[in-house]
Amino acid sequence: MQERFNQNIQVGVLGGGQLGRMLIQSAINFNLDIHILDPDPEAPCNEVTNYFSQGSLLDYDTVYQWGQSMDLITIEIENVNVDALKALQQEGKKVYPQPEVIALIQDKRLQKQFYSEHNIPTAAFVLVENKEEVQKHLDFLPAVNKLGREGYDGRGVQKIGSPAEADKAFDKPGLLEKFVDFEKEISVIVARNASGETRTFPVVELVFHPVHNLVEYLFAPADISPVLAKKAEDIAVVVIKKLDMIGLLAVEMFINKEGEVLVNEVAPRTHNSGHQTIEANWTSQFEQHLRAILDLPLGATDAKLPSAMVNLLGEAGYHGEAKYVGMDEVLAIPGVAVHLYGKKLTKPFRKMGHITIIDSSPERLKEKARLVKETLKVIA
Ligand code: ADP
Repeated sequence: MQERFNQNIQVGVLGGGQLGRMLIQSAINFNLDIHILDPDPEAPCNEVTNYFSQGSLLDYDTVYQWGQSMDLITIEIENVNVDALKALQQEGKKVYPQPEVIALIQDKRLQKQFYSEHNIPTAAFVLVENKEEVQKHLDFLPAVNKLGREGYDGRGVQKIGSPAEADKAFDKPGLLEKFVDFEKEISVIVARNASGETRTFPVVELVFHPVHNLVEYLFAPADISPVLAKKAEDIAVVVIKKLDMIGLLAVEMFINKEGEVLVNEVAPRTHNSGHQTIEANWTSQFEQHLRAILDLPLGATDAKLPSAMVNLLGEAGYHGEAKYVGMDEVLAIPGVAVHLYGKKLTKPFRKMGHITIIDSSPERLKEKARLVKETLKVIA
């Protein structure tokens, strides 16, 4: 049988942020060269690859020209020019996730319709074209109003609890989704390779910052029953199969008070909810993504030990050259691994790095996560 592993394949990644950077760290173990396209010359990937190109991810010609010298193209951000990827795919380049999947996921309206069409459990919703249309659906409240396109990290998502608040609705195509009074938010990362093999990582539990809507910390494996965990993992597998997608897919879900698992949204790439897999699982999400897109056997995903992951965000009130306070103290805690992303400038709530903590005791994990959050700060 022909060897599937080929170290000479030229892999291009659209986006040069921390996800690309950690993918490169993983690719080094496979002797793979990773080419990066990113508009920002100071992107986290620039200092870790010899193949960095500066350019827009949204410009057709830029993406198309850059893609000419690649064998395989992948993404670390969804906001890319899909038409250029379609053209490259037609010319015989491998593009994973496939451009059609990226296009679907770029638009929350299409995403929600996809779930409905395929009987994937998700909160009820109505599409709205503008602010005025929201007024016609006051009986649908309380709801969450989401922009169809270009919302990320909580921007483009707002709760409309009562008719009195309907006036703040987005005045662009979006949707109203029933407000889910959830017990927990969870995420399952699933991988699928071209041979059709799929594998899920254990369920993780996300804890969000109450104001800024960014993941504050997460715990893995999630503190839920095996029945619920199985339900969530099965749903993730159904979604990636129905999408017919190759690569890594992060499926964010809610568990409601009735014990139902509902899909919130998906990301067709490595994800913030999988960073802890670098230290805590047999295979990291970054290596798994490479294995999936290169059509290699998928790695075992079992957790070695329970883990927590804390995002290291720029401290409120500080703009400028990043300085790290509390590193010595945090590094002295057993089981703590610090990842800094190489961003020179900090600003409030910018993702500057993350910290993974592994510990056999879930209680100690939570304590250490809290201690890390209180101790380590990014200021300017
Ligand atoms: P983004 O793409 O910006 O991450 P999400 O759709 O994931 O947006 O929403 C961000 C957060 O808002 C979610 O993680 C969740 O905490 C909350 N949220 C989203 N949809 C709902 C909903 N239907 N009911 C309750 N909370 C929601």
